[in-house]
Amino acid sequence: MIKAFVVGHPIRHSRSPLIHGHWIGELGLAGSYERIDVPPAEFKDFLTSLSARGFAGGNVTIPHKEAAFATVARRTARAERIGAVNTVWLEDGVLWGDNTDAAGFVDNLVQSVGTNWAASVDTALVIGAGGAARAVVAGLQDCAMRRILVVNRTTGKADALVQDLAREGGPALVSATWEALPALVPQAGLIVNTTSLGMTRQPPLDLDLSSAKHDAIVADLIYAPLKTALLRDAEKHGLRIVGGLGMLLHQAVPGFARWFGVTPQVTPALEAVILRDLSGN
Ligand code: NAP
Repeated sequence: MIKAFVVGHPIRHSRSPLIHGHWIGELGLAGSYERIDVPPAEFKDFLTSLSARGFAGGNVTIPHKEAAFATVARRTARAERIGAVNTVWLEDGVLWGDNTDAAGFVDNLVQSVGTNWAASVDTALVIGAGGAARAVVAGLQDCAMRRILVVNRTTGKADALVQDLAREGGPALVSATWEALPALVPQAGLIVNTTSLGMTRQPPLDLDLSSAKHDAIVADLIYAPLKTALLRDAEKHGLRIVGGLGMLLHQAVPGFARWFGVTPQVTPALEAVILRDLSGN
């Protein structure tokens, strides 16, 4: 019996058990995936005792992603760049950490728009500079484009993101001010909202898309609501849209593959499980 977990504080709202539970059942595996609430003061002890607790690994969520980054013995290059760990596993007794949000974002673009989604993208415009933006930028840095622009309400955080993630080769990484945002829209082949604006009970991201390129892709990381006002507006302008739910599902794939040894698929059946939960049924 292979055991995995998601750890956070609080943890009751995590949808990860639904995702992994669906795959365990679908694949007929002898495995379990449980929710574990661990307060910050006890997190390091928890993470360093996985083997004794019989776990193969698990997911780490708020508020422990930075502590997990500091605690694991080895990190993937992606986790190293992003500065946060959301997936851990034991390999030959060594505790590894990865950040799968970057791959989750890009894999969702591929599944939603097609494998050649980047063909029309010279410049990506990333709005926001929090943890999710770092993962999105890290994912886009491995894609074929010329430039990634990062705009945030607090400009200093966009500057810090650029400083932390900049690297030789790959797309140029440039920060810009919130006031510059309208003027950057027409330059972007991909526009990504990584802010919390547009979430249920939050104001929408107020962005005029009338000057966007006709073949632009507009992505939103938010999945509650499933289609934000930004995405509805993008649709009205005839643009291609990518919602946040797919990223949530795709980011779960690499962890499951590490713990259970089988790479699961993101299917309409899995999506239906999460949609039912989101609609409260
Ligand atoms: P975070 O680290 O707290 O960052 C929040 C970002 O939103 C910051 O850039 C912040 O700007 C910006 N923001 C908040 N209120 C704003 C306002 N009123 N006006 C302008 N900007 C505002 O959060 P995060 O972890 O990056 O998550 C961001 C969003 O992504 C959340 O909605 C989360 O649910 C979603 N997400 C989705 C997935 C998925 O799998 N689909 C994965 C991760 C995250 P300042 O720096 O100026 O405060």
